Amino acid sequence: MPPETVVVVGASLAGGTAAATLRDAGFDGRIVLIGDEPDLPYQRPPLSKTYLRGEAARETLLVRPDDWWDTQGVETRLGTRVTAIDPTARTVMLTAGEPIVFDRCLIATGVRNRPLGVPGADLEGVVHLRTIADCDRIRADAAQAGHVVVVGMGFIGAEVAASLRSTGVDVTVVEIFQTALFKVLGPRLGGVLESIHRDHGVTMRFNDGVARFEGSGRVERVVTRDGDVIECDLVVIGVGTLPATDAAGCVPVPRPDGKERTEKKPTSKLDPNKTYDVVIHTNCGDFTVRLAVKTAPNTTASFASLVGKGFYDGTVFHRIVPGFVIQGGDPTGNGTGGPGYATVDKPPPGTRYTHGVVAMAKTAAEPPGTGGSQFFVVTAPDAQLPPDYALLGKTVKGLDVVDKIGQLGDPATGGTGTPTETVAIQKATLTVH
Ligand SMILES: Cc1cc2nc3c(=O)[nH]c(=O)nc-3n(C[C@H](O)[C@H](O)[C@H](O)COP(=O)(O)OP(=O)(O)OC[C@H]3O[C@@H](n4cnc5c(N)ncnc54)[C@H](O)[C@@H]3O)c2cc1C
Repeated sequence: MPPETVVVVGASLAGGTAAATLRDAGFDGRIVLIGDEPDLPYQRPPLSKTYLRGEAARETLLVRPDDWWDTQGVETRLGTRVTAIDPTARTVMLTAGEPIVFDRCLIATGVRNRPLGVPGADLEGVVHLRTIADCDRIRADAAQAGHVVVVGMGFIGAEVAASLRSTGVDVTVVEIFQTALFKVLGPRLGGVLESIHRDHGVTMRFNDGVARFEGSGRVERVVTRDGDVIECDLVVIGVGTLPATDAAGCVPVPRPDGKERTEKKPTSKLDPNKTYDVVIHTNCGDFTVRLAVKTAPNTTASFASLVGKGFYDGTVFHRIVPGFVIQGGDPTGNGTGGPGYATVDKPPPGTRYTHGVVAMAKTAAEPPGTGGSQFFVVTAPDAQLPPDYALLGKTVKGLDVVDKIGQLGDPATGGTGTPTETVAIQKATLTVH
């Protein structure tokens, strides 16, 4: 029997350590370590501390010395992204090169930085910290900067602020909570950390967020939600992370041909005493929406009728706002909508569009052709959508799939709000109990 092939997806601390441990423990099969960064596996903690301050050399970050992988016969495919894993065919698809067949596959894709979806976030000089390259750039830019703004005062923001300040840079932190590390330490310990930063000359603005970044080409100032303006030459964003699960199960599919379609508005309503679930089968997995029949009789009837006619089968999620919503049900996939009849239900008072809530466009005020078929699945704790979306229901199963799809438009991976991989609704099925 040929030796087993183990493919490790993600060549950072977990992936690199797993591959090295397999070899160290005597596994003599083929090991392929695939990572989309250009560097061999390394540890990130020094990137906000010693390495950022210029006190540690790159070599000290490495999980194993540069030449270890070759000498131990571990194949490394760096700068290579896994675009899909097909567990049935036991194959990983890559951005470059032939697919690789595996006996076992370890997914160690970790997390990626949560983008800050405000105007100007794409300006030069607005950066995130995750990789060695990010850190090198921040260090070089900070050395030239008069003033750096750090957005977010969790672990990364607090450490970056402290490290940059200790190298003599002026730093202002903008944080939406009332103190430093509020979510993990609470107000008392967070307050202690805040006072240490203050003693070292870090300026902090709490209970305020970023409204936008401004500058011509490069960032020149931050405008906060309270309307304050902070002049700066560099912004480092540290507002949390999202799981990097997009490779884990989205089977590649061709984009369906978008065809204009019209449907008549349904005449009958659903039975409020029954439970209606719609399973949305996609190439990234399935999720189930339980329809809010009592509170949204017209909307749920529209959606169920369209599901029954196979309207959604072969449409795509055409717009994805990371950490916010995924939007599907527009047959041409260009945002102009489907059948053209409007859903008129008003959401119940106090409705919040929170994680897993499904809303449907839109009220009768919408021009024909723009409402009635598009639906939104919220991926954020609170998407703060205006109350002109009808409540369709809630995701009761497969929230992990919703989150996975929601990350595919991530600007951190080159996305622009259009999914970086085609996410097709293969079929939507209605069950009644
Ligand atoms: C600046 C900084 C400071 C930190 N400080 C600390 C600290 O002091 N203490 C602490 O406990 N933790 C700290 N952390 C967190 C710690 O680094 C992480 O917990 C750790 O890196 C997790 O390792 P991982 O290998 O699981 O995932 P990650 O480090 O996220 O690595 C995942 C890798 O997979 C790659 N990848 C993702 N998707 C694909 C794909 N489809 N194809 C190919 N490759 C892919 C990514 O590019 C990445 O290289 C810090 C993190 C940062 C960024």
